[in-house]
Amino acid sequence: MGRLRPPEGMELPGPVRLWVESDLLPDGSFGREYLAVAGGRLFVLSEREGKAEKRLELSLEAIRSIEFERVFGGGVLRAETEEGSIELIRFTNLKLPAFAEAAKILEGWVKGEEIEPELPEERRCPRCGLPLEEGTKVCPACLPKSRTLIRLISYLRPYWKQALCLSTLTFLTTALGLLPPYLNKPLMDVVLAPKGVPRPLDERLKLLGLLVLVLLASRALMSALGAAQGWLSAWLGNRITHDIRCQLYQHLQFLSLGFFDKRQIGTVISRVNQDTGRLHEFLVWGSQDLAINLLLIVGIGVMLFVMNWKLALLVLVPAPAVAVVSRLFWRRVRVYIRRFFHRWSRLNAVLSESLRGIKVIKAFGQEAREIDRFKGSSGELAVTSVKAERAWAFMFSGMSFLITLGTMLVWLAGGRKVLFGEMSLGTLMAFLMYVGMFYRPVEAMSWLINFCSRSLTAAERVFEILDTRPEIQEAEDAIPMPRIEGEIEFRNVSFGYDKHKPVLKDVSFKVKPGEMVGLVGHSGAGKTTTVNLICRFYDPDEGEILIDGVPLRKIRIEDLRRQIGIVPQDTFLFTGTIAENIAYAKPGATREEIIRAAKIANAHEFIIKKPDGYETVVGEGGEGLSAGERQRIAIARAILADPRILILDEATSQVGVETERKIQEAIERLVKGRTTIAIAHRLSTLRNADRLIVLKEGRIAEVGTHDELLRRRGEFHRLVKAYREISKIRAVER
Ligand code: ADP
Ligand code: MG
Repeated sequence: MGRLRPPEGMELPGPVRLWVESDLLPDGSFGREYLAVAGGRLFVLSEREGKAEKRLELSLEAIRSIEFERVFGGGVLRAETEEGSIELIRFTNLKLPAFAEAAKILEGWVKGEEIEPELPEERRCPRCGLPLEEGTKVCPACLPKSRTLIRLISYLRPYWKQALCLSTLTFLTTALGLLPPYLNKPLMDVVLAPKGVPRPLDERLKLLGLLVLVLLASRALMSALGAAQGWLSAWLGNRITHDIRCQLYQHLQFLSLGFFDKRQIGTVISRVNQDTGRLHEFLVWGSQDLAINLLLIVGIGVMLFVMNWKLALLVLVPAPAVAVVSRLFWRRVRVYIRRFFHRWSRLNAVLSESLRGIKVIKAFGQEAREIDRFKGSSGELAVTSVKAERAWAFMFSGMSFLITLGTMLVWLAGGRKVLFGEMSLGTLMAFLMYVGMFYRPVEAMSWLINFCSRSLTAAERVFEILDTRPEIQEAEDAIPMPRIEGEIEFRNVSFGYDKHKPVLKDVSFKVKPGEMVGLVGHSGAGKTTTVNLICRFYDPDEGEILIDGVPLRKIRIEDLRRQIGIVPQDTFLFTGTIAENIAYAKPGATREEIIRAAKIANAHEFIIKKPDGYETVVGEGGEGLSAGERQRIAIARAILADPRILILDEATSQVGVETERKIQEAIERLVKGRTTIAIAHRLSTLRNADRLIVLKEGRIAEVGTHDELLRRRGEFHRLVKAYREISKIRAVER
């Protein structure tokens, strides 16, 4: 990572050897900080107002060890020194892998080992060192645009006829736009201010009428063609955006959970909405404008040189200055624009986070702090925006002035030519009209190019997702399994969400068809992870999982998922009626089937008590229902799907004793005739399990029946005791 540069204006001693970006400030609010190592010293830099400043500096030699601590939602890095423990930096779960790795490297350096860091998540472009946006490896500055453009154009293939039509229309409208100045020439030289002997008046009057008629006709035609062109380009642009958007969504649906774990859902949403939105702008009018302006520049340029090449050269005199000014300008404004977008997305993050956490904010009376935080972000955005606009204004005025300079030169030189009779007045007028038309597209090009490159970056980010292959792939020779018997076997399975941090370690067990097995262990022991692997949401890193003796990787994914029913830890209900939610896995289910499932799940009673019964609309996340009601709907959903393997992940975790008994009854009816894996917090819930598997820190600690395990006085006994303690505490609380 030696190629990394400290931010501008920041002097670090020697090349940067380690550079990790965090997303939290020491007070736990969101913000940007960096951990850096350079010249044998460790720095923590804070970013304020776009500038990084040193918050902390330590010599590596003064550090005895580095502590990496997980806290709720993220982690903390601490340095142990002679004087005690110093908190270095805080970060959210998103940055956890990077800091876990950094901690290892630092620990090594502190001990005097020579390791060259290779951080898993390089959040900077390896070529230019600029920070990359969250969740993407595409750097807008270093992208070969041509490749993306070609790929984008390939979406035109199904509509090539329309595209051809559109190009013709564009060409014709542009060509027609060049006509009026040309007609100006005879209007001046023959009709209005003829040189030498003028033609008779009535002839000139007729000509005047004719010329105006032609001008009118060409204008009318141009308007008609322009309208058709605008309509066609909107149609085509929208078709393609629609195609890309749907393709993207479809692709997202099939991506593995691992993809979503690594990203904030917000950034994925912005990929689908914002990036395709930018593509839309580009396709609907950006590309059109680009084509028209290019054609205009070429067309007018040719006209100018054909009419009078010496004067045409004069037009170009300010061109180098214009180029230099716009280059200087863009270098400045690019920084502002980047910063603007950066701050914009940060403001969005503040907004969406605080709205989602509104309950917590209110509960702890932190409204004022949140308002301040928002004000801060919004203010930063405003400052950047004003800076960008100011630069715009300066550049705009400067450019206009330079351009007038060219026109003045033409007036002067052309006027002299007219006076000396070397050029007709009409030619000069036509020429000046072309000059007036010439600079507009030149100017437009300067920002169009930027606009297009931003659109192409958006396209590239969209393609990046489209090119992500799902980690969970169906085998070429996948075996169809129309009916699963229900035997599950884990053979020395190890797995970690991050490869360097195993969650399950060498887990082996076997569940017989029709058996009910309880999975118990402390929170974080890996219970949910085990069932995630059975559903093949993730593939194990080592070892193998078999169902009915067939390796999971070989089973047709559709067959597998259809026959596994899961009542998850956190029930998700879609916006819709209760009936629709129950029938989610079986869209064609009849009302009788739905009611039967609800009855088995002990949900029927509470549903019919609702004013709208089964037609009660529940919102996103199931507002308006209690946790127990939601869980019973989830159970009904699983019953209706009639799976061969049933997984209950803490299906009674959030309910009271009475409801638990009801759910318990439901489960007893449900487990008959199928393999069941049940995870429960209340160990009493698992009394009817045939066997219990006790997990401890990702390993199997014990296996046996409820009574066997109690008698053994091992890990399970400890869990039960701990649970009783908790009940006692609860009893006191009540
Ligand atoms: P539990 O036994 O409570 O169900 P889990 O299987 O959910 O435990 O989690 C086991 C460990 O894996 C925990 O340390 C948890 O932090 C971690 N973990 C769970 N889900 C993820 C994930 N999607 N990405 C990274 N780590 C995860
Ligand atoms: Mg769990």
